[in-house]
Amino acid sequence: MSNKEKMRTTGYYKEPGPKLNEESPFKSMMERFQFAAEILELDEGMFQYLANPVKQITVSIPVVMDSGDIQVFEGYRVIHDNVLGPSKGGIRFAPDVNIEEVKALASWMTWKCAIANVPFGGAKGGVRCDPKKLSTSELERLTRRYTANMLEVFGPDRDIPAPDMNTDEQIMAWIMDTYSMNAHKTETAVVTGKPIILGGSHGRKEATGRGVVTVTLAALNKLGLAPNKCRTVVQGFGNVGSVSAKLMYEQGAKVIGISDITGGYYNKNGIDIIDAIEFAKNNGNSLEGYPEADKITNEELLQLDCDVLIPAAKEDQISPRNADKINARVIVEGANGPVTANADAILEGNDIMVVPDILANAGGVTVSYFEWVQDRQGYFWTEERVNRRLNRMMRAAFDNLFNVKEEHNITLRQAAYVFGINKVATTLRMRGIYA
Ligand code: GLU
Repeated sequence: MSNKEKMRTTGYYKEPGPKLNEESPFKSMMERFQFAAEILELDEGMFQYLANPVKQITVSIPVVMDSGDIQVFEGYRVIHDNVLGPSKGGIRFAPDVNIEEVKALASWMTWKCAIANVPFGGAKGGVRCDPKKLSTSELERLTRRYTANMLEVFGPDRDIPAPDMNTDEQIMAWIMDTYSMNAHKTETAVVTGKPIILGGSHGRKEATGRGVVTVTLAALNKLGLAPNKCRTVVQGFGNVGSVSAKLMYEQGAKVIGISDITGGYYNKNGIDIIDAIEFAKNNGNSLEGYPEADKITNEELLQLDCDVLIPAAKEDQISPRNADKINARVIVEGANGPVTANADAILEGNDIMVVPDILANAGGVTVSYFEWVQDRQGYFWTEERVNRRLNRMMRAAFDNLFNVKEEHNITLRQAAYVFGINKVATTLRMRGIYA
């Protein structure tokens, strides 16, 4: 092992977190980062700069529960980079969230913002809790105290949170209010993904799914496939999955499989997605018992014979365990990190095109950028304008990466890392290192 390699190995394994195993998102991120760094011939100093987050914050969040007892939760915010502008990224609430996962997600945000061409660095936050076990008022106190602990971190020109797994526009409203109360003025631009009435943007809620479909159509075009001839499978029926499924359905695609935490639902003749969304809405946000499809397992869903597979649930869904059994022409990553790095080569070997997360789901942060711009200008756009601009930016991002892919004869994922890292490194070289 060369000295350089040794330094790198020690450099990114110095803080093994609870989830750092074979397939941890952090390890996946670093493997792909390293590949791109080699293509770009990044020097060791730049490599270390970009591999390490600017700031990692862990806070204790004491909450008075409805019972009157105090419970202490752990919260995180990792700012991976702020070379391109204020850092940007969502906050997730989950029982197993940990600093290693947040670090990976924060660096993905850096590359994602660079690819989407929005003037932001990358960050991510998390609170280790099970939101399903909290009452609304407990959730509010937890959110407000987390925000209070981050008052020096957040700010419309510093670090701007947004929704992620298990966080929604109500939680964003509490963050905005807590920050504003402490700033003694209403500061809408401190957070995005807010309710429209509080300075949110039209189209933000659907933005990630809409962006997924824009790049899916661009990918199908490259493969010479017509969307209305495509059998599509969507894993996950939350905000990203359901909107992606609906828009693919509206494009005339036959959506043969959908899923949520209750399992997979398959109908070879296609599922009426409008009907499935309506069913879930009236069924406690669950597809359990959906009558128009056969129940299958999550594993079976991922292995269905189809043209387009959109994993829009969570990390680590396609790994060497099942990558060889995937029967799709193109995988479009609606979620962050659904394919592990050690599955990339298997998919490539089977000639499956992968539209990587840091491109595919960048529609969310793109409309977050629009929301931030609108808040700062105090001038709000129509939904039609938001969607038109989103579509244009996603299309441009896809075309940029496709050119990089062709130029270096690499995969679209590798191209995404090469493009993102190169943009941040070039900007950093121009800014220089402050001393
Ligand atoms: N959490 C979303 C993501 O992973 C959105 C981030 C944002 O809008 O800042 O891209």
